[in-house]
Amino acid sequence: MGRSEIIILLKDIGYRPRKFKVEVTAEEMDYSGEYEVVGNAEVVITVARIDLGYRMEIEGKVPVKFVCSRCLDEYVETFHFRDENVLRRGEYVGGEALKDEDIDSIYLERDEIDVLPLIREIFIANLPINPVCSPDCKGICPVCGLKIEDEANHVHEDVMGTRKLGVFLEKALKEGGKK
Ligand SMILES: [Zn+2]
Ligand SMILES: [Zn+2]
Repeated sequence: MGRSEIIILLKDIGYRPRKFKVEVTAEEMDYSGEYEVVGNAEVVITVARIDLGYRMEIEGKVPVKFVCSRCLDEYVETFHFRDENVLRRGEYVGGEALKDEDIDSIYLERDEIDVLPLIREIFIANLPINPVCSPDCKGICPVCGLKIEDEANHVHEDVMGTRKLGVFLEKALKEGGKK
């Protein structure tokens, strides 16, 4: 069984940033989405006091098995994720706007924070929508579905047929337009 929380005590943290290194297992990441976490996540949490409370940065890397959105191959890549938050004491009262609107505030009841749900959240929020196995992945052949990189020069006999159909459609469209 993995941990269900990873608590960081904030009380003794001053204005000088403190770093915490945590290792989060695939089980603890508790991710069951489109891809697969295939190893431990190494996470560095940097916390420093600020006037409003604390500023916390979470930075992690974890091996993930993705499915390439172009060629549909599975590939494992070390995936990096990062985000920062402002931790504020007390309940949200509104009104008081942060200068940096991009940074979310988290309201704390005590001088401690469970970073595990944050790590999971940031990991998911950073996941790519269309992952690619390599920036120049050519994808798959639209006719047969083979990976183009492996079969760069293959041809299809029915390409002519496809072209004929194209010409036919073009003609049909033109004729339709005349009416
Ligand atoms: Zn690919
Ligand atoms: Zn093909």
